[in-house]
Amino acid sequence: MTDPFPQEADPTTSEADTRPRQRFELEDTGFDEVPPRFRKFYRRWRGPGDQLGPNEVICPVCKVVIRSTRELRPGDRVYCMPCMSRLIVVRGEDGRLEARVAY
Ligand SMILES: [Zn+2]
Repeated sequence: MTDPFPQEADPTTSEADTRPRQRFELEDTGFDEVPPRFRKFYRRWRGPGDQLGPNEVICPVCKVVIRSTRELRPGDRVYCMPCMSRLIVVRGEDGRLEARVAY
């Protein structure tokens, strides 16, 4: 069994960006498709009435919401453990953050 995050538990990493970011306390969401220590980093999208926080982005592959302990910004790389996709955060046409699959 390999650990995909040997350095830290947070699945998000960032490229050079020195501006301070808002931090978020994450709680266990009960998301049970990943091991317990990663559950707080994911939640299910609840549909059209759901709102994404500044630290959240939807996986375009499996539609799970990926959550970070920090505010997300374009260029951030996130990892969707449920479907094992490597994603990059981009600013969408409507101004909101979106994730695209990174190759
Ligand atoms: Zn996914």
